[in-house]
Amino acid sequence: MMETYEDIRASVRALAAGFPGEYWRTLDRERGYPTQFVQAMTKAGFLAVLIPEAYGGSGLGIGAAAAILEEVHKQGGNGGACHAQMYVMGTLLRHGSEAQKAAYLPGIAAGELRLQAFAVTEPTSGTDTSRIRTTAVRDGDAYVVNGQKVWTSRAEHSDLMLLLARTAPREAGEKPHDGMSVFLLDMRQALGHGLSIRPLRAMINHHTTEVFFDELRIPADSLIGEEGRGFRYLLDGLNAERILIAAEAIGDARWFIEKARTYATERVVFDRPIGQNQGIQFPIARAYAATEAADLMVNKAAALFDGGEACGAEANMAKLLAADASWQAADMCLQTHGGFGFAEEYDVERKFRETRLFQVAPISTNLVLAYLAEHVLGLPRSY
Ligand SMILES: Cc1cc2nc3c(=O)[nH]c(=O)nc-3n(C[C@H](O)[C@H](O)[C@H](O)COP(=O)(O)OP(=O)(O)OC[C@H]3O[C@@H](n4cnc5c(N)ncnc54)[C@H](O)[C@@H]3O)c2cc1C
Repeated sequence: MMETYEDIRASVRALAAGFPGEYWRTLDRERGYPTQFVQAMTKAGFLAVLIPEAYGGSGLGIGAAAAILEEVHKQGGNGGACHAQMYVMGTLLRHGSEAQKAAYLPGIAAGELRLQAFAVTEPTSGTDTSRIRTTAVRDGDAYVVNGQKVWTSRAEHSDLMLLLARTAPREAGEKPHDGMSVFLLDMRQALGHGLSIRPLRAMINHHTTEVFFDELRIPADSLIGEEGRGFRYLLDGLNAERILIAAEAIGDARWFIEKARTYATERVVFDRPIGQNQGIQFPIARAYAATEAADLMVNKAAALFDGGEACGAEANMAKLLAADASWQAADMCLQTHGGFGFAEEYDVERKFRETRLFQVAPISTNLVLAYLAEHVLGLPRSY
């Protein structure tokens, strides 16, 4: 019998009830950060579930973390403001030194230290991460960082940043991804001393930014693991991220389906509830079937991940299918609501915008398909 984490889900539902649609709607309008919600999630221990008990977390698996984020989204909220606090620390946990883990993980588990910024994407490299241009050059007991990141979400709401930078040129390595290193950067010391952050207004309220490094000196012991192996270290964490984002998409899909079901039952036009028309009820049923199917893949990927087994294909498929299911449900829900779907007060248009992100980030649909084609189906690499 698959674990469904009913107790955890019930606690998340109770917490989420304190943050209704109006809370998220107001923040969306003002591009505000959900400070109270993040504090409540931290206090409840939800953001520390993946941190081992030895470091102050609850030592649960990705299945539990997925249940938490799915439930947040299913209740109409959004985990984007704090989900990174759950999984970015995975790179530190798996590849950091004992000294680094002891120095940071207990603070992260307690929520006193925020490790929410994950700086990989750059304006000129796009999805081809091997072409990043940010460099970190060793100089005595420091590294000097120069370059720029884009779409670094939550950088203004984070104390620490996980940074991917080149410590050797692309051409110097055997493979294009060699020569990149990962650093745990203390942003509190760096801000104003070579690190600057510029907010990036976007279609959704995601607290995302551009980050600039100008001769920023960071202590040499900010390096995680060995120089040059950073991309490999990040890869381990990407499956976790994909599974958790897929769970958020499932939550969104379930929110859209319930919202549409309720509206289709109550809204009367031509003397009958609109849900009596097959043209309205079939898209709801189809979205439901797609969501249930996608959820099975999310659960499969999570079970493999928690069992310590390879899950690259399943994590990618979970992300693809869940993102498609949520977008299908979003479109259906908007259509079911007719004109009122466009009114802010129904929250449909906000969730519609929010769930569209999953087609693009943290990895775009085409790149998932390219991964499956090449690595699972053995087709020629297309790029
Ligand atoms: C709101 C938001 C938050 C984000 N947060 C973060 C964050 O915190 N940290 C971070 O590092 N990044 C973050 N990102 C960046 C995100 O991961 C990237 O936008 C995403 O991976 C796509 O990369 P890109 O924008 O450079 O698109 P590009 O790589 O420029 O691609 C553009 C389009 O071309 C397609 N394409 C490109 N190459 C191929 C190919 N070979 N075959 C077929 N299609 C192709 C892509 O699928 C895409 O549709 C965020 C983005 C957004 C919008």
